[in-house]
Amino acid sequence: MTHLDASNPLVLDVRDLGRRAGAMKTKSFTVELTEELGIGVLNVAQGSEVEFDLRLESVMEGVLVSGTALVTVTGECSRCLEPLSYDLEVDLQELYEYPDTDSRGREIEADFTEEDLPKIQDDLLDLESLLRDAVVLALPVQPLCKSDCLGLCVECGQNLNEQPEHEHDLVDPRWSALADLTKTEPRNKD
Ligand SMILES: [Zn+2]
Ligand SMILES: [Zn+2]
Repeated sequence: MTHLDASNPLVLDVRDLGRRAGAMKTKSFTVELTEELGIGVLNVAQGSEVEFDLRLESVMEGVLVSGTALVTVTGECSRCLEPLSYDLEVDLQELYEYPDTDSRGREIEADFTEEDLPKIQDDLLDLESLLRDAVVLALPVQPLCKSDCLGLCVECGQNLNEQPEHEHDLVDPRWSALADLTKTEPRNKD
């Protein structure tokens, strides 16, 4: 089992919370991401700041962490490919369980598996996977710079947001028959 690194900014020390069930603390802090989070088209960049607003509650089984994280998402529009950037606030909630102890009260070195709740080690807990999962879930697969982005001209790549009137006189003969058909039936495209 790998041990949590207290110097990692996403590793939180909860020693001051104590183990008495019902104890509660709020923590607001900003960390600089040491690793990029994201899905390729949209990311929270390495080195960008994450603002946490957390509530830590001591419960029987461990520490219940809830609150929000504010991140800056950057990427590009899936239609016009222009860069985009926006702030995203994600909700966080996770129960970090105390590790199992043996009959002498010593921590049993548990293995992490997919189904396991995240564990507390030496009064430290790791926010990284909690943050990563919440951010990845909140990112749209096809991000848009604006909901009515016109995209790029399929023939020449012109950004149609900049030139909404842009069109070509030449219509590929393979498509002209189809174009004639669709002319009689105007459709509203979202
Ligand atoms: Zn766009
Ligand atoms: Zn064009």
